[in-house]
Amino acid sequence: MNSIDSGFDRSHIWHPYTSLSNPLPVYPVKGARGVYIELADGRRLVDGMSSWWSAVHGYNHPELNRAVRDQLESMSHVMFGGFTHEPAVNLARQLVELVPEPLDRVFFSDSGSVSVEVALKMALQYWAAQRKPLKKRMLTVRSGYHGDTFGAMSVCDPETGMHRLFRGFLPEQYFAEAPRCGFHDTWSEEYIEDMRLNLERHADDLAAVIIEPVVQGAGGMRFYSPHYLRRLRELCDHYGVLLIFDEIATGFGRTGKLFALEHAGVVPDILCVGKALTGGYMTLAATLATAHVAETVCSGDPGVFMHGPTFMANPLACAVAGASIRLLLGSGWQEAVCRIERQLENGLESCRAHAGVADVRVLGAIGVVELQRPVDMGSIQKMFVERGVWVRPFGRLVYLMPPFIISTAELDTLTSAVCDVVRECAAGIR
Ligand SMILES: *Cc1c(COP(=O)(O)O)cnc(C)c1O
Repeated sequence: MNSIDSGFDRSHIWHPYTSLSNPLPVYPVKGARGVYIELADGRRLVDGMSSWWSAVHGYNHPELNRAVRDQLESMSHVMFGGFTHEPAVNLARQLVELVPEPLDRVFFSDSGSVSVEVALKMALQYWAAQRKPLKKRMLTVRSGYHGDTFGAMSVCDPETGMHRLFRGFLPEQYFAEAPRCGFHDTWSEEYIEDMRLNLERHADDLAAVIIEPVVQGAGGMRFYSPHYLRRLRELCDHYGVLLIFDEIATGFGRTGKLFALEHAGVVPDILCVGKALTGGYMTLAATLATAHVAETVCSGDPGVFMHGPTFMANPLACAVAGASIRLLLGSGWQEAVCRIERQLENGLESCRAHAGVADVRVLGAIGVVELQRPVDMGSIQKMFVERGVWVRPFGRLVYLMPPFIISTAELDTLTSAVCDVVRECAAGIR
């Protein structure tokens, strides 16, 4: 049964952020169904990661399978230059209806990072068209994560990101302090003062502010007050700077709202979505812009928006994204996320008492246990697999973001495993 050649994998294939000289073990997977990932040796793991925020409906969903299969029968791909097709038009219409007005112009791309590149490029072309050629820097907050391509990397946290490694090649951007008012904290203007100062000081050369609304994901799994975004919108308008929201991680229900921007009731000029867009089936992302941004971009030289990926608006990906959104909207996702939120709060609370735990926080279907020291990835991964769950911590963060279809009993397995493993790590048993 186990026909996966993990020896070949070890010597020839890079995995995310890994060494090929000294690789950590990877677990051969032979299938996945619902919230279970099945290893080649027959063990079944409850999935706590949704394959990095994406598989919100679980794996191997009959309706999503059907969407891909049906689309495959008519065409898997056709270039988007000079052609259009139903899956793209339908998906664009769904997105425009879901996100707040006036975000109604859609650019499809292949991955979250590229959708961020597209957003940054739109902001640059916007100001170039207005003959403000100096406005070509970005401002963001620390602890952010926006992807691994160069433009995206340049706005990732300067410490945990890869700035030092790529200095000299990476564009240099401005960084304000990370939002430090917790999600429920009472607002005070001091929380945004550093951002305001940066805007005031650099308005002349700033194209845009880019930020993950409410939840900072891979840069630290931090939650912050929606009020920050309301003030940020006002400040960006005041100083004449575009506002980009990166909802690649938070979009499609994860934080308890369909989009995290709804917590604040704030609309950016440009919005990036990805990850859960296709329910985790295929790689697809989109950048939405207002008509004003789109028209301004196209009014300047060279009169077009300068981007066009080979696999732009891939029909298979668009078809499954359309089906995933329909499934989500018809699924009672809001109740599911509320239930998961309550259960994560109760289930992870006992971690707080363990030595070595710095914080426990939950928002929507995201549960985070922040430790005082970084975990040893190899050994902690093994401890989770031995307990029948798939949890992949990074740095000091052990976190859960399960598929929305998870049952109470399955989620209990996840939270119990996290509490167990955290307790053992803290006690130095590993
Ligand atoms: C994952 C992520 C990205 C990058 O998306 P990829 O599909 O991995 O390129 C960008 N921004 C945020 C907030 C993300 O979570």
